[in-house]
Amino acid sequence: MKVSFASVNFLTAIMLWGFVACNVKAQQTKGGEASTENITSKSLSDLKAVADEVLSLSDNIEIRQKIEPVFEVARQFVECSQDDQALKYFQIALQHAPWRLNEQLVCAKLLQKSGNSELAKQKAQTVLNEAETDSLILDASEILGEKREMRLSDSEPWPSTGFALALVPVGEVDGWLLQSLRQDLQATLDIPVVFRFSTQKLPEPTRDHVQLFANQFRPMLERNTNDPSFQLMWQKLKTRPRTLSNNEAVFEIVREAMLSITNKEGLKRFESELAVSRKLGSQWNADDLLELLRQVRGVSAQKQRGYLGIARFDLYANNNRYVFGTASAVINCGVMSYLRYTSAVVDLPPKQERLKQRALKQALSSAGFIFGVPRCTQPTCARAYANSLDEHDAKSVPLCKECKVGFDKAFGRLSN
Ligand SMILES: [Zn+2]
Repeated sequence: MKVSFASVNFLTAIMLWGFVACNVKAQQTKGGEASTENITSKSLSDLKAVADEVLSLSDNIEIRQKIEPVFEVARQFVECSQDDQALKYFQIALQHAPWRLNEQLVCAKLLQKSGNSELAKQKAQTVLNEAETDSLILDASEILGEKREMRLSDSEPWPSTGFALALVPVGEVDGWLLQSLRQDLQATLDIPVVFRFSTQKLPEPTRDHVQLFANQFRPMLERNTNDPSFQLMWQKLKTRPRTLSNNEAVFEIVREAMLSITNKEGLKRFESELAVSRKLGSQWNADDLLELLRQVRGVSAQKQRGYLGIARFDLYANNNRYVFGTASAVINCGVMSYLRYTSAVVDLPPKQERLKQRALKQALSSAGFIFGVPRCTQPTCARAYANSLDEHDAKSVPLCKECKVGFDKAFGRLSN
């Protein structure tokens, strides 16, 4: 194929992205992304044929990669009240993708309905132990006949004297995690921990990961709109409106360009980074949330009371792509996000205990900054600075001696 210099510019730029992306801090992604084919528009018999074809494959790895239509046909059978068929397809699909906790629960409900309550309870117990969200935990406990209270009560009173920390939910959060954090923070810091609620409106997010990802390509595409290869692909574009200000149009043309130069590795990286961007969604400026907490705190705040905001959405601050948390000892406030600790974002099976430990380490770290405890120098201490999730995981929950002394001094249990 004859390639013009202009097309070399455009396609080389796309090829170079893969190289540049290698040098950008890699983000963890969920493996085996589901087929992007629009399966919901298919009729049940068509869908069943697709699912059966997937299940007839001889390679287990391939079945796992293409498993989505099997789950979809199972869900459709539930919709049509064909429980036996639904159960059959769920059970086969879960043989290949057992960490799909949502589907484990639907399967458990079907098993319970069919009279196999022992297996239903076994599945529900696994979900109860490992799920990271309130909704899954509640559904699982219902199958097990247990009563769980996930809702957080109204603002609780501060203790009349002494140091105390308030956990302030910022936006939608998982009650089980905050309740667990309260208990563990109380035990580790040895001060009362209360829940306080903000009556202020949550500020709007100021960034969006999908937009940021598209912005990596947009200037390069804009420079190449006269390139013949670009124009050819641009004409074929299905996304509407066909403008480079449309993120999906940007993604479609990059995908086409990568396919045309058979840059398989680049395309794989592109799709996985795009999937992560979609999962991360909107991003809030941590400073806006600190301001929200400052308002919760009020003007006549007491130095002995700290406020830690907890969010389930992504945060950034200054020039950082993201932050796990930020705090200010001047106003006794801090904010942290646990989104990046969840299996919804990282490429790992859900694990309740792991999420609990990760969030607790961040909360201890933030609590230190809120009460003016100096930065920690021990790499394994919960309060050590972590540059990545791996470094965060390498830390352990007990505080080092230095930090224990730091908190004791901050809380007036030791003299300075
Ligand atoms: Zn420490």
